[in-house]
Amino acid sequence: IDRIHKRAESGDPFFSLEFFPPRTYNGAVNLIARFDRMSEGQPLFCDITWHPAGDPSSNKPTSSTMIAGTMLNYCGIDTMLHMTCCNCTKEHITAFLQKAKDLGIRNILALRGDPPQDEDWAPTEGGCNYATDLVRHIKQEFDDHFVICVAGYPTGHPDCTSYEDDLKYLKEKVDAGADFIITQLFFKAETFLSFVKDCQAIGIKCPIIPGILPIQAYQSLRHIVKLSRLEVPQEILDAINPIKDNDEAIRNFGIDMAVELSKTCLDSGLVHGLHFYTLNREVATIEILKRLGMWCEEPRRSLPWKPTANHTRCT
Ligand code: FAD
Repeated sequence: IDRIHKRAESGDPFFSLEFFPPRTYNGAVNLIARFDRMSEGQPLFCDITWHPAGDPSSNKPTSSTMIAGTMLNYCGIDTMLHMTCCNCTKEHITAFLQKAKDLGIRNILALRGDPPQDEDWAPTEGGCNYATDLVRHIKQEFDDHFVICVAGYPTGHPDCTSYEDDLKYLKEKVDAGADFIITQLFFKAETFLSFVKDCQAIGIKCPIIPGILPIQAYQSLRHIVKLSRLEVPQEILDAINPIKDNDEAIRNFGIDMAVELSKTCLDSGLVHGLHFYTLNREVATIEILKRLGMWCEEPRRSLPWKPTANHTRCT
């Protein structure tokens, strides 16, 4: 968190990169090679999304934890592990956090998560029902070991009773001990900037980092907005519908749009850095960062071995 503040003070905004854990062995090998290539641009940190193992009563570390640990240990990248809490006991959360600590992870994105869709979810007395409860639990069990990030929603969380209530709950997360906020993706810079001003107006003082999604394909955009329950503005639909079958044209549109969004956010003087939802792909994000002049071109150390998907699995 000190480094986030220092970068802002020196007028050198940082960037960070989000990845999701791979599902296959080859996916894991490819992802580690990608971390290595992307670390050349010098992100301040990378983060790994959380996908709890099927059995919530299991205290085995999830693949998210293992990949985050791998990233840190083998690629030397500062790593933030996402963690959700709404379907998990406090004992299991403590066990996951302990595993993360043992692996050397110092940063957690504390989230409620989405309750199972086929069940009516209700808060339980004394449980980790909301991200605020998780932030409090981390502080209580691990004191200041972890830097804690929480999620913010520039148009309000889709379940919230009102935008104002959602802001109030966001302030509760920060007051409980969160160090900074990363936002949900958004399509217009004004949406993000007015959200930051609304946060500041109610006393949220920590860094608020815009979550930038480079649109890379029509189907993946549809999937993401469905998952996030967001609405794509009509002018964006009008621009991408005629090119929806042309992946290259969509990707170029996504790059242009992300560059403009990023520039407006940076020019506002309200942000310390940019956070990219990479969707585990590198081309678009690297191009955007190069166009913004934020990709560090200087050579950096690389892995002492070149991972390829054909390597024999170690036993
Ligand atoms: P909370 O902050 O707990 O809020 C959830 C809802 O409850 C909101 O509507 C809020 O207004 C309301 N609320 C909060 N506190 C209270 C209270 N005390 N009383 C009543 N209502 C309250 N999901 C994953 O499964 N894995 C991931 O890795 C992941 N990464 C994400 C990363 C980012 C940057 C973002 C923005 C989201 C991510 N998500 C992830 C999705 C997230 O888990 C869902 O959006 C989830 O529904 C809400 O999580 P939260 O931490 O924002 O919840």
